[in-house]
Amino acid sequence: MITEKDLQYLKRCVELAEQALEKGDEPFGSILVSAQGEVLFEDHNHVAGGDHTQHPEFAIARWAAEHMAPDERAEATVYTSGEHCPMCAAAHGWVGLGRIVYASSSKQLCEWMQELGAEPSPVRNLSIPEILKDPNVDGPVPELAEQVHQLQQRLHEAKQ
Ligand SMILES: [Zn+2]
Repeated sequence: MITEKDLQYLKRCVELAEQALEKGDEPFGSILVSAQGEVLFEDHNHVAGGDHTQHPEFAIARWAAEHMAPDERAEATVYTSGEHCPMCAAAHGWVGLGRIVYASSSKQLCEWMQELGAEPSPVRNLSIPEILKDPNVDGPVPELAEQVHQLQQRLHEAKQ
């Protein structure tokens, strides 16, 4: 169930994804929100330098492990423009973070990459429930997913 509040946080993730694209990075953005609704951490992809592990959800997991007690992590929500990849889903699980809400799914991203003729990812396109046991996940959100789709199209055009 995705609420109005969830949509606001997801829109911020799409904004961060667009910022990443404008800085020459891949368009993915994520935020960490406490049980009280406070935005604790936000980031976007930093893979343009060549390190393809620099995903915002991975940064969030590490930040949470360093700065939050286990019960605070379990009650926090991670919002993200694109569903966690297997690496980030595992990191999320290892640090015991709570709910995940995403604007677009990994399945959608995979379809868009194919449609754009982009190079396939070296990592299998698995969904969060294929990585995490009993995850609390919501998404995708069609209207926001379409915005993420457009960012992927812009990324692809910029590479032409
Ligand atoms: Zn990732």
